[in-house]
Amino acid sequence: MLESMRARLTIWYTGVLALVLITFAFVTYTYLARAARERTDQSLADTTASLVSNFVAESNDEEQPGEDDAAEVTRNFQFGDRQALIFDEAGRLVAASAPPSGAGGTVVFPEPSALSQSLGGLVATAARSGRAFATVPGRRGGFRAYASTITSRGRRYTVAVALPLHEQAEALEQARQAFYAAVPLALLLTSLGGYLIARRSLAPVVAMGARAERIGASNLNERLPESSARNELGRLARIFNELLARLDNSFEQQRRFMADASHELRTPVAIVCGESEVALSQEERSPEEYRESLSILNDEGRRLTRIVEDLFMLARADAGQYQPDFTNFYLDETAGECVRAVRSLAVRRRVELHYQHAGDELPLRGDEGLIRRMLLNLLDNAIKYTPAGGRVSVEVGRDAARRYFIRVADTGSGIPAEAQSHIFERFYRVDKARARAGEAGGGAGLGLSIASLIAELHGGRVALESSDARGSAFVISLPASDSTPAKTLA
Ligand code: ADP
Repeated sequence: MLESMRARLTIWYTGVLALVLITFAFVTYTYLARAARERTDQSLADTTASLVSNFVAESNDEEQPGEDDAAEVTRNFQFGDRQALIFDEAGRLVAASAPPSGAGGTVVFPEPSALSQSLGGLVATAARSGRAFATVPGRRGGFRAYASTITSRGRRYTVAVALPLHEQAEALEQARQAFYAAVPLALLLTSLGGYLIARRSLAPVVAMGARAERIGASNLNERLPESSARNELGRLARIFNELLARLDNSFEQQRRFMADASHELRTPVAIVCGESEVALSQEERSPEEYRESLSILNDEGRRLTRIVEDLFMLARADAGQYQPDFTNFYLDETAGECVRAVRSLAVRRRVELHYQHAGDELPLRGDEGLIRRMLLNLLDNAIKYTPAGGRVSVEVGRDAARRYFIRVADTGSGIPAEAQSHIFERFYRVDKARARAGEAGGGAGLGLSIASLIAELHGGRVALESSDARGSAFVISLPASDSTPAKTLA
């Protein structure tokens, strides 16, 4: 429970709020207490001042002795909530007003003699410094007193006023009680509210989690709920869904790749099995018949090898594991060698083959084996799809941007417009039956995708430049290498 984000958020929220509320209560209480004390002190000082002025007025009355002045002043003391006391020079109590009576007579103020004892320190301090305040602890808050000295008829008196603090203590006690009740209540309510808000805000995450738990390889097409698309959680759900879409897409590609690959492998394997069964079914066969069967088996074996090699290369490239073996060589020389390699095939198919290289040598840093394979795939297609009497020309050079290009053009039947955008896709063939029947062995529809992959590995690309009834032209474009080929250094 405590691990859940909702609980953590609530605990943090409540903790911070508790800190704020307790600090607030403490500061408020301190302020209240100080204000109350200041009010009390001011009131005591005022009362004492009026008492002193009364004493001075009585002293001016020459008729009565000095001690009676004090008694007179305290007798006339009007304040019912505090007590006036007058001490002589020796600190002895000479007169005191009636003790204050609280509501219902509950206040028990010390006897004047006990009080004068408690105020001994205050009287002594006032005698030294002219005036002083003191708080005397006692039951129900004790009391606060103020003393001031006065000289009358040559004798010095100390006039003190004491005020019980029970009212102030009660007011502060009430404030404390209010805080004790209000702070926990406020915390309880806000933590409950905080938990509800956290639960509500995190509900989409819970829903996303529950849905994500159910998504696996078999139902990658499912998506997380995107409730409020504009907030952070909505964005998170959208990002997850985009990720799922990409995963779904690549899973789908892998599935299609596997299905297409097994489909392509099934046909030659079926031919190998069928042909060998036919050859073995009869006891006696002529050497020519055996030779013919073996030739078919050999063709299909080669075809299988090529498909498996192509698949292996594509699978490794998809997994990012294909490491080309880069060396320095001349592109024009390699292209010339490729053209020579397919010459016998062209002669067999009665297709005229032309090679043209104008300008400088074309040094290239790349994987020569792969470049050869790319070019042979294009040449193989050009010869395969050009009828007898046609012409295939290969041109190598630099284009206007000083990049290398190899153009392979033929006078074949061309590629239908609707198929042109698909020919670089894996396993795509325009006419599956015709491709399989070709003399060179029908391809699996991987030739152009492999060529495209090789060009990309070298920072270039293969494109269909034009294709119509007069023929097709493919162009390979490669970045020119600045490095000098190793061959020239040797
Ligand atoms: P394949 O191995 O079957 O030749 P490719 O990927 O090399 O597969 O080519 C895909 C399809 O593009 C071929 O089946 C063919 O129909 C078409 N194609 C490729 N090159 C040519 C060309 N020079 N002339 C006509 N059609 C072509």
